[in-house]
Amino acid sequence: MRLEELTWPDFEAVKGKVRTVLLPVGSVEAHGKHLPLGTDVFAPVEICRRVEELLKRKGIDVLVAPPIWYGHSFSLNVYSGTVNVRASAFRDYVREVMRELADEGFERIVLLNGHGGNVYPLVEAGEELVEERENVEVWLINWWIDFRDEIFRVCDSQGHAGEDETSVILAIRPELVRMDAAEGRKVKYGIRIIKKDMGFEELPGAINDDPKGASAEKGEKILEAVSRRIAGMIAERESVSDSDSASDSNPDSDSEDS
Ligand SMILES: [Zn+2]
Repeated sequence: MRLEELTWPDFEAVKGKVRTVLLPVGSVEAHGKHLPLGTDVFAPVEICRRVEELLKRKGIDVLVAPPIWYGHSFSLNVYSGTVNVRASAFRDYVREVMRELADEGFERIVLLNGHGGNVYPLVEAGEELVEERENVEVWLINWWIDFRDEIFRVCDSQGHAGEDETSVILAIRPELVRMDAAEGRKVKYGIRIIKKDMGFEELPGAINDDPKGASAEKGEKILEAVSRRIAGMIAERESVSDSDSASDSNPDSDSEDS
């Protein structure tokens, strides 16, 4: 179910039955010369779509909310097309959206993040929300970090606009990828030197990996593995919630069948 496709009476009927809402979060930013500016949104939106479908097959309904497009993207702001939102404004905005979702009654908000610069502001937004909404849990999933093992089963390397991300976009929106312009290299930096034009050094050409080994087939494998893992984790958590509420309502029930 997509939140934006429901009428408000539909939503009213749905919200009491659905515990989990998936919120894709990304950025509009430069991704090498070969990937679209919307890369960091396309990937989490597709993962959310797959997770929802996998869960539906298990009989679990979740709601997918429209994505947060603009993110915090300081270092890549030196490249054309990047739209950088100050970290504090981004954190506050995401927290407000989550607050609304929590007030609608959702117990679990899954932030499916596609962009590195968003990680710390999202942690803060989550912490601020749960300080005031005790019954809500916020999941922060950074797909390219949290499922690195799965990714390295498929790819030889990963990085911004690199083999993994390029593969994923080739699987989702091949018509937007310019593989003839795909070139880059891994830049290693041990410490972070913050300066206005740091993006030129850290991410020369708005890339930090060699994307030439990317393929749609690899992207499909990554999307499949990551979506399965996330769906499995949500299903597990939902069954725990089910057994909690079953034992709440019937204190005599034992937990054999949970
Ligand atoms: Zn990206």
